[in-house]
This record gives sequence, structure tokens and C-alpha cells, in this order.
Amino acid sequence: MKNNFELDKPHDECGIYAVYSNHNSELARTLYFGLYALQHRGQDSCGIAVTNGLNISYYKNLGLVSEVFSEEAISALPEGDIAIGHVRYASSGLKNSINAQPVVYNGRLGMFAIAMNGKITNAEVLRKRLIEEGMTFQTNIDCEVIANLINKHTDNGKCDVERAMRELEGSFAIALMTSTELYAIRDRYGLRPLVLGRTEDGYYLSSESCGLDATGVELIRDINPGEVAVISAKGVSSSYFAKATRRPCIFEYVYTARADSFIDNKSVYEARYECGRTLARKLMLKADIVAGVPDSANVSARGYAVESGIPYIDVLEKNRYVGRTFIQPNQFMRENSVKIKLNPHLHNIKDKEIILIDDSIVRGTTSKKILETLKKAGAKAVHMVIASPIVKHPCYTGIDIETYDQLIGATRNAEEIGKLIGADSLHFMDVRDLIKCCSSGDYKTFCAGCFDGDYPDDIEKKLKDRREI
Ligand code: SF4
Repeated sequence: MKNNFELDKPHDECGIYAVYSNHNSELARTLYFGLYALQHRGQDSCGIAVTNGLNISYYKNLGLVSEVFSEEAISALPEGDIAIGHVRYASSGLKNSINAQPVVYNGRLGMFAIAMNGKITNAEVLRKRLIEEGMTFQTNIDCEVIANLINKHTDNGKCDVERAMRELEGSFAIALMTSTELYAIRDRYGLRPLVLGRTEDGYYLSSESCGLDATGVELIRDINPGEVAVISAKGVSSSYFAKATRRPCIFEYVYTARADSFIDNKSVYEARYECGRTLARKLMLKADIVAGVPDSANVSARGYAVESGIPYIDVLEKNRYVGRTFIQPNQFMRENSVKIKLNPHLHNIKDKEIILIDDSIVRGTTSKKILETLKKAGAKAVHMVIASPIVKHPCYTGIDIETYDQLIGATRNAEEIGKLIGADSLHFMDVRDLIKCCSSGDYKTFCAGCFDGDYPDDIEKKLKDRREI
């Protein structure tokens, strides 16, 4: 089960990492380190599939990358030319090893493997239709719907990938591997990130650039919204399955992505730092110290401290070894679950007026416990500053906040939320300021649907029309 702390943060669906290599004799090991760097995107299961040009071998299971891939499991994967890997957070579809990815499929295209990050919002419609057409399913995950579509749109061993992609609604970043080619595909809005990198021995894909950094790969560019990039012995060729309207998920910058990643040409660290500075300029709060809720809010807190001139001092120490899952805690431990993860620095807190920065508030349960902890430790006052706007709406495209009743901010303003969580004052960021902080060059449009209700592709309306929400 997820612990209280983790339930109070939105989670992405997954991370993908893939390699097309000419000479990498340690393909599976490279995948291991790439996935290890993407572990924050999913901790429920993981898998690696490798092809040597004839067959596809794979191994996947429940657990963290370091748990699933022992030295033995890595060594058992054969040498090969192309490989794809995946880490999964099971927000939809059951958490079992069958639902782990990559999905390996044997059909009209021969054997292929596919892994995705995102959420197909018309998956159930497609699944029903494909079953009526005679296709079979082993899992209840969206990725197998895509695998069946790939199979359906294959004729004489040639797949019309663009046509298959046009059938999909929602968000997706996909790595698809045949025995000779590696495909990189991003939905028409670019909702989920996917980057392309290169070394002398081949091409690499990663959900975030931190996966490339961990494996010594140079970042070349982002896969574009609506792009189907095919990597083969001839190099990289691209086509587009739809007219692209760039609107990537702004929550990647707020919380989901690692601060050392670049997404669509923008440093996540820089975006968060700018958020902190902007808030300091706008709010002009007075206090003794500025602190961040570790780890994701620390960068914004540093930005706030530098801009305001108020010293940055840590008030909470994070236990780095608490994963996203605990054994079932008893009542006593449940009440102390935040303290297991975040312990107060008593000497930094006593009699201090604190500006506490967090990245977001979703359900509010963790914020309430953190504020109780700081007050109990002797804080004179805690002004909570959130480096994003109020989450007022669900996300239907992959982050696990799917209903209004999960959100403390759905029907409340900042003052009401502040009272409920016990803050002396509570402040949020304006959505236009957030967009400004995350923009770079020509990249100035985002999905900010969970903040402003404006979703790409009328997703909410389509789901309501189909009575799926
Ligand atoms: S609704 Fe929010 S979390 Fe979902 S894709 Fe849009 S910005 Fe991201």
C-alpha cells in the first residue's frame, strides 16, 4: 500500500528508457542504470526487453529496479542491438507482474516489445472494439491496447504506425522495438516527456534527460509532439501522425520530474528556482527563515530565500530510505507516518517565524501533519507558500488525481485551505506566473488543466459524453 505521505502527492504513470546500439555489449546493464535514474517515475514494477535481431528476451517483475534486476537477472539477458526498459507506477490497471512492461507481442509484425508512459483516455472504447474484432488481451493496461492496434494496422509485415497512433486519445510517450528498429513516439500535445540522446555507439531514449546523464549519453533533442521517430541502421527518420499542438504537462516542472532534468529545452531546476523568486517578489512576507519541504520544494525555497534576503535553513530532515511503499502500518505508526519520512530539526524551528515552501497541495493531509509537527517543535508561526496554483481539477491523462473529491482545493480558496491545514497564512502561485517560470524560447504553452480546468483536446468533455467520469 502507498503511505500517507505519498498518497498526498500526484504520481506519474511511468518512465521509459531505450537503446539502439551498434556496439554496446552491455546493453542490459546500460538499461539498468538508465531505469535506475528514472526510478522516481514509478516504483511498482519494472522490466527490460532485449533483441538480438532474431528473438526478444525479457524480464520484468514487481519491485524497484535494484530489487528486480540482480546481477544474475541482468547477466541472464542476452547481448543484443536494441533494448527497451520501463518503470511503472500502477495508478490504473492492477499492480501485478503481468501488468509490468514492456509488453512483448507476437503478431503480424513479428515479435515486438512496447513500453509507454501516459494514459489513453479512450482505452476502454478501443479495447471493446478490438475484442469484437477478435483480438485477445492478457492484461488490463493501456499499453496492450496500443500493441493490439499496432498488430491491427500491420499488413504484409509493414505497420502503419501513424494510423495506429491517430486512434489514440490522451497522453503517451512510447518506445517500440522490433527486431531491427526502435520507434519513439509522443502524443500530439507532447503531454508526457521523451528525449533523444546519442553516443558514438548509438541512439538512446529516456523519459527525462537525467536518464541520459546517468549513462553518459549526450542529449540531442526532445521527441516532438505528434512525432514518430524511427531509429534504424540508416539513422533517425521522422514523420508526424497528427498536427502537433504543443501543450506538455506543467506538473512535470512542479513536482514529477527530477530537478536535474531538462524537458522541452527547459531546466526543471531553473523553472522551480524562478517560481521561488517570483513568489518572494510578489508576496513580500516577513519571517525569520525560509525552508522547503524536502526534496522537491527545496529548489523553489532556495530561489525564494535568495530573492527575499531571508536565510534558507532546513526545518525537516528526509529519511532517504523510506520508499513509496511501507508494510501495512498500525494505527500508531499511521499517525506518525509523516515523522517516519520527515523529522523536524528542533533547534532550527523553536521560536522562529517560518516561510515554508512546498511544491503543491493535493489532498492536504501531509501539509496538515507537517504543520502540526512544526508547531509542536516550537515554531512561532508558519506561513505556507506553494510554488504552484491551487489544484482545483483532476488529471485524466496520467497523473493519479482523477476525481474532484480527492482535492482539498476543488471547492476551497487559499484562506479556507489554510485554516483546514493549520497554517498561519497560505499562499499559492498564479497560473500565469507558473507558465512564465516554465517557459523557454518558443515553448510557452502547456497543459495546466489541473489548475485552470483547460485540458487539451476537450478531454474532460469527451469523457463526460461517454459517461466515463
Ligand atoms: S491536468 Fe495537470 S497533471 Fe494532468 S497533464 Fe495537465 S498539467 Fe499535467
